[in-house]
Amino acid sequence: MIQRMSRILLKTLRDAPADAETTSHQLLVRAGYVRRSSAGVWSWLPLGKRVLDNVARIVREEMDAIGGQEVLLPALLPREAYEATGRAEEYGDLLFRLTDRKGTAYVLGPTHEEIFTQLVKDQVSSYKDLPVILYQIQTKYRDEARPRSGVLRGREFQMKDSYSFDTGEEGLAAAYRLHREAYQRIFTRLGLDFRVVSAVSGAMGGSASEEFLAPAAAGEDTFVDCPACDYAANAEAVVFTAAVPAAADPGPVEELDTPDTPTIETLAAHLGVPASATLKNLLVTVDGEITAVGVPGDREVDLGKLAEHLAPAVVALVTAEDFAARPDLVRGYVGPQGLDIPYLADPRIAPGTSWITGANKPGRHAANVVCGRDFQVDRHLDVVTVREGDPCPRCGTGLTLGRAIEIGHIFQLGRKYTDAFQVDVLGRDGKPVRVTMGSYGIGVSRAVAALAEQTADAHGLCWPREVAPADVHVVAAGKAAQTELAALAADALHAAGLRVLLDDRAGVSPGAKFADADLLGVPVILVAGRRAGEGYVELKDRRTGEREELQLAEALRRLSRPDL
Ligand code: ATP
Ligand code: MG
Repeated sequence: MIQRMSRILLKTLRDAPADAETTSHQLLVRAGYVRRSSAGVWSWLPLGKRVLDNVARIVREEMDAIGGQEVLLPALLPREAYEATGRAEEYGDLLFRLTDRKGTAYVLGPTHEEIFTQLVKDQVSSYKDLPVILYQIQTKYRDEARPRSGVLRGREFQMKDSYSFDTGEEGLAAAYRLHREAYQRIFTRLGLDFRVVSAVSGAMGGSASEEFLAPAAAGEDTFVDCPACDYAANAEAVVFTAAVPAAADPGPVEELDTPDTPTIETLAAHLGVPASATLKNLLVTVDGEITAVGVPGDREVDLGKLAEHLAPAVVALVTAEDFAARPDLVRGYVGPQGLDIPYLADPRIAPGTSWITGANKPGRHAANVVCGRDFQVDRHLDVVTVREGDPCPRCGTGLTLGRAIEIGHIFQLGRKYTDAFQVDVLGRDGKPVRVTMGSYGIGVSRAVAALAEQTADAHGLCWPREVAPADVHVVAAGKAAQTELAALAADALHAAGLRVLLDDRAGVSPGAKFADADLLGVPVILVAGRRAGEGYVELKDRRTGEREELQLAEALRRLSRPDL
């Protein structure tokens, strides 16, 4: 196939849109691959659509290879199903809701566990019909709070979602393993640098869950990596396990006069102690009940992690009104000793550890406040934000921290959805068995952006061949002999089965054509330029920038090699 740039709908831009902060957003727009329709909603233009389709094709081939059966379910779904599982509420504002002319409530599907479960309930009746893996590549809708970074986080986006159904744990584990391997093949073929990390399961429920992360500065996820063992996890999923040494008998509680020290920084400076010697008590409400959360003074509470631990209870920071109603809670000087509210604490606040903390009086703190002696922890929860150098839960080595894009997610859901819809099949012994389920997602449109993030350079996009919108970008520098040779080259490449993008635009300077070729990111650029009259073309490797002048026939031989 030859795509002629004089014909295709393509307008490259010199400048990125003002609001485009990430590389992929800037370049995909500048290169004319996508155009914004409305916030977080994108049109895919011809070259972009080719890249998106190439990603989808690779996903499809590998899903088919593990026995996945492709289906296509609607995006417009009855809200009833999401109410039956409680997810309408859990998703909250993320869910696009609408009502038809008869008043029936619908949602635009954010992911399809409910609908697939209902489908299987309807279609499957015996253990003989299982296991089954169903998948689709389909448009999903989520009313994201901050749709940003272009197609990296859309409100409408393409996802591959699959669902496995089995009669027992072994089958579920096997389906999960198949997906894990398929995902590794998919992301390797896509040319992505990726890590498989353990994840929290979020609104999905269930147990085993891993994420596939593509390291990139633009990523919104933080993951930890152990330099010594193979441990890697989403920062939200790291569990603190190191033992905390108890203090040698610190003596009785001592009250200190600490005027104007409502923050840890001011307190530590006033007393000349490290922030880690102090105990910070954050006040939150849990389903409306005021609760204190204790963490070492040099640590931050990860509210997301806290909410995760306490779900479905609703966690919020206390307000000025909450304080007004509780004069015993002295803002900036709260300590857990003698408090009559629930006290949650980080595992570092272990029995026997001694702290400097608020004395529950304005301008006063208390020292030698010992956990287990002077106050009790109602529940230990790992809620602090992970830091570079924190001990690896597996081997104790200092962890490293990185940013990444979540490109895929696999879950062993278990029976959350099959319980909700009572999906039983006839078992081998003639008795009904409850079906168990896994769900597995890949951000197909997000993967395009992730790949752009990882492969782009200062000149533009830089696609791996299997994903690129063409195999070869042929540039005719402008003169008649060059145009002629370029056309000849394009025809010959096409005849050899290669996908060709031909820059045959008249009235565009060679410099602008070369810049566009770099911007568009096809892996090989063939230029009919200076020595076109003698039958010479220049081959440029887009990634390395290496160039070579060759006779056209030799260039064609090179490019037709299957290992390119
Ligand atoms: P995130 O944490 O980034 O919001 P998620 O964990 O909510 O994502 P899942 O429900 O696991 O997402 O969806 C499966 C996959 O779909 C994700 O791994 C991601 O690659 C992709 N995805 C999720 N939300 C979006 C979005 N708004 N735009 C593009 N892709 C998305
Ligand atoms: Mg996820």
